[in-house]
Amino acid sequence: MSKVSEIKLAGKYIISGQIELLTGLHIGTSKDTMKIGDLDNPVIKDAFGKPYIPGSSLKGKMRSLMEYYHSLISPHNLVYSKKDKKQEIRLHMCGEKECKVCGLFGNAPSKQESVAGYEVNIDYKVPTRIIVRDAYLIDESITDEMRQNMDFDYTEIKFENNLDRILSTANPRQTERVPAGAKFNMEIVVNRFQIDNVDDSTNFLEETIIAMKLLEDDYLGGQGTRGYGRVKFIELFIQYRDINYYSNKSNNIKEMKFNNLSELFDGKTLIKTKISNLS
Ligand SMILES: [Zn+2]
Repeated sequence: MSKVSEIKLAGKYIISGQIELLTGLHIGTSKDTMKIGDLDNPVIKDAFGKPYIPGSSLKGKMRSLMEYYHSLISPHNLVYSKKDKKQEIRLHMCGEKECKVCGLFGNAPSKQESVAGYEVNIDYKVPTRIIVRDAYLIDESITDEMRQNMDFDYTEIKFENNLDRILSTANPRQTERVPAGAKFNMEIVVNRFQIDNVDDSTNFLEETIIAMKLLEDDYLGGQGTRGYGRVKFIELFIQYRDINYYSNKSNNIKEMKFNNLSELFDGKTLIKTKISNLS
């Protein structure tokens, strides 16, 4: 039998702003969607042929960073989300009601195999709080000056060499990337729930902001260890819409604007009082 809670939606936090690339970004696309004549290693593009940042890439990276942050990367905390000859994907997933990571990013009730080798029965569905939208390119962020050094309208080609250590022969490989300076419109929604009469308050908003801050000190997309994918969140705006907002009973909106995440942090620590008026 699965465990069930009483869940009420209390409201929604809408975090909007821009993602600015501080270094080139490469979010790859699967080989089966490639056409003849495409590059070796293209970036993912939207229906208009412009690069974008899939919400799933952003969410996946934030989840992974928070699993490390909450010390959930150990054989007992990890399960296989995929395990076949080609690929193994291990991630944290559990059925704990109090789990901050599953509570924000979601879990799937199921039988899983833990990395430590035993069967895990996840029998409680933690409601997912976060929704991460696809982030679309802001056209004007690609300036004429930037275009002079670019190979295509929205992207550049980088050649990477892997050197053979004995013969010193190079194995050049081309990678498409979105250039530094490009900006994307982003939006993240965080649902605020009351679960068995316990209100989330700003807890999961705080978790989300910490995940964004961790991402700034990490990287998005591929080849991060070569310097790719450094991003910064700018022009940020958080709005809290409580449940009455949607039924027109009241216009209960609380909001705050800030230029960047550093304004909310004292070093690495989130200053919770700065967002407490959003509760
Ligand atoms: Zn968990």
